[in-house]
Amino acid sequence: MVQLFIILSIFMTFVASPLRAADQWLPIRQIEVAQINADLIDDLPRVDVVLYYAANLDEGFRSATPLDGLLEEFLVAKKVFAKAGVQLNLLAIKSGYLDPQYFSIMSAPLELEKPNDDYANMYEEMARNPSQLTDHAKAAFEAIIVPFANSDKTLHLVAMQGVYMPYYEGDEVGRVWRPTLVRTKGLSFPSYIHGDSIPRAYRGVITLSHHDTELKRTIAHELGHKLMNVSHEYNEVGPQHETFADGGLMLYGKGLDIPSGVDGRWHKERLHLSPYVYRLNDEGEKVWNEDYHHKGFYDDPLYGDKVIHFKGPR
Ligand SMILES: [Zn+2]
Repeated sequence: MVQLFIILSIFMTFVASPLRAADQWLPIRQIEVAQINADLIDDLPRVDVVLYYAANLDEGFRSATPLDGLLEEFLVAKKVFAKAGVQLNLLAIKSGYLDPQYFSIMSAPLELEKPNDDYANMYEEMARNPSQLTDHAKAAFEAIIVPFANSDKTLHLVAMQGVYMPYYEGDEVGRVWRPTLVRTKGLSFPSYIHGDSIPRAYRGVITLSHHDTELKRTIAHELGHKLMNVSHEYNEVGPQHETFADGGLMLYGKGLDIPSGVDGRWHKERLHLSPYVYRLNDEGEKVWNEDYHHKGFYDDPLYGDKVIHFKGPR
């Protein structure tokens, strides 16, 4: 009788509260996580990362974007950021049931997006009209991520089957605009686009919808958006939505470089100033960098002079 009651209670916990399913997500593959973190050194800066992979994602997605593939990409990202002096600490891999209505999201409501006038540069335009999350995207993140102490300073890599980003595409003279929807391979929801429009506990979210079997650099690239708070730019190449060239981690290509100095657009310096970066003190406590002083746009006062000022295209 007692056993039946226990079985029934467990069953009811799962069935009665589907909206709180995130509470049921559990850490998996903990020995492997410990092995991945075995090379961390106490006196170097770190970033905490949690990887979320729902157990019931569709089979086709699981075979195209397997958890093992994402872990391979995480190992590449570890090397890329270690070279720039920052260690990635995998806090946990979490898995559990996800309501299938949250397998796929629109990143922002199309009706709130607006083309850039192009008199100001891309980052200034974004700060004027920060992108907003859809209510559905917010509910999806709530269904996956359970906030914890300092989860707002943690990066949350979330496997999602489809993440669609709307924007307006203009003709050459910028007169006629058409709404466009791009299916993203990974989306980093960075502060330079969103400011503080994402609820704080979830601001570290990055969605992963593709496994880069060849170069395995998608996770490193998306982490770069979040941690350096820059778009697609590298040395003399100014930021664009999509720039195909090799060399820099932040371009679409094969590059993994995180350059430094003004000629490197301050990428390495901005990485080390990131509010997601911490150090361990003598007691082993985590001491995080300063947070953004304002809303976290590209030229947030946190970055001091580590900002490139440039003109808009027109
Ligand atoms: Zn990108």
